[in-house]
Amino acid sequence: MVEEINPYEVAKTQIDIVAKEMKLDPNITEYLKRIERALIVSIPIKMDDGSIKIFEGYRVHHSTVRGPGKGGIRYSPHVYLDEVKALATWMTWKTSLLNLPLGGAKGGVCVDPKKLSKAELERLTRRYTAEIINIIGPDIDIPAPDVNTNAQIMAWIMDVYSMQKGRSVPGVVTGKPIEIGGSVGREPATGMGLYFVLQALCEKLNLKLKDLSIIVQGFGNVGGTIAELLYNHGCKILAISDISTGLYCGDGLNIEKLLKWTKEGNYLKDYKDNNYKLISNDELLTSKCDVLIPSAIENQITDKNAEKIKCKIIVEGANGPTTPEADKILYKKGIHVLPDILANSGGVCVSYFEYIQDIHSYFWKLDRINEELKRIIIEAFEETYQISQERKIPLRTAAYIIAVSRIARAIELRGVFP
Ligand code: GLU
Repeated sequence: MVEEINPYEVAKTQIDIVAKEMKLDPNITEYLKRIERALIVSIPIKMDDGSIKIFEGYRVHHSTVRGPGKGGIRYSPHVYLDEVKALATWMTWKTSLLNLPLGGAKGGVCVDPKKLSKAELERLTRRYTAEIINIIGPDIDIPAPDVNTNAQIMAWIMDVYSMQKGRSVPGVVTGKPIEIGGSVGREPATGMGLYFVLQALCEKLNLKLKDLSIIVQGFGNVGGTIAELLYNHGCKILAISDISTGLYCGDGLNIEKLLKWTKEGNYLKDYKDNNYKLISNDELLTSKCDVLIPSAIENQITDKNAEKIKCKIIVEGANGPTTPEADKILYKKGIHVLPDILANSGGVCVSYFEYIQDIHSYFWKLDRINEELKRIIIEAFEETYQISQERKIPLRTAAYIIAVSRIARAIELRGVFP
């Protein structure tokens, strides 16, 4: 399904905005708007009923100029090439902003995983891996989980890759189960990162985090973790949502109970509590709150609803939830937007830790993971905040200045082959 707003066009517009702000060499601007390579693959799968179905998959490298490609793989019936190109581009900025020695990549398979049995999902994952095997690897491109993919799927990818190489290669993917070279703290890492940067922004704005009311769109790994962290911190969580509905309660939702409910495989729409109200996605995004945390997919805050948004802070748990048109409106309204490439970078940060732990075959304790994550993400936040204050520009543009400068410098130093 082709969405109305093409995320790759959004990604290119964001490059134009920062290029103008930092007076970037137009040659570099054009360079950054191109992806290095994209592979489109057909994935034939024998279904449980004996029939064969063919799915389409992608793996895109946007930039490997600062290190191997890095980025998740998503399974969704709506995935298409331009979306994966945009997501790969955003990964480049994310790894660069954190100053990790990695590039930007992304993958996707156009499939609704809920419609597959576990055996079919495994066959799909294994065949997809076999199809992209020549462009992944610890020195080439390291996949990880994203929307609708998880540690089990990473384990299958690692197994296919290792079988081909004739030895165990845990460093080919991150977000693996801990038993086979995964890292403690990787699963909640994106949510942890959101929490650290939100806390840091609250300090700058003289706000007490625990007094704030919160709305979270999405209740998967990212949305669920941040909702839980903030709930445990004492914040009132006014609303959450999954694909079935939004759920609202003016007195605050009980996140522990809701997490238990959804982890058992249930939808929010079937949760019974007379004090909770079912609301639409649009109502959820435009309800009054202090902090809005879009943690689902792209293009949620657009020129259609940005004017109606009534929060003080937006923390982008998802990649690309806000369009450039919406950004302008939000900035005028004085809403602080903690941009995706900073806010949700905790995931890739701990992925990097997993990758180096695998290389060294030496594994860290959770305290060390969280301490290093906090240090790296807060350093990026401080730098971003300072530039945004000095130049009087949105946090997104400031974060882009840092990320794009590093990439531009690497291109300049390496030169253009041949
Ligand atoms: N899919 C996550 C993201 O968008 C994690 C990527 C990774 O760990 O490589 O940042």
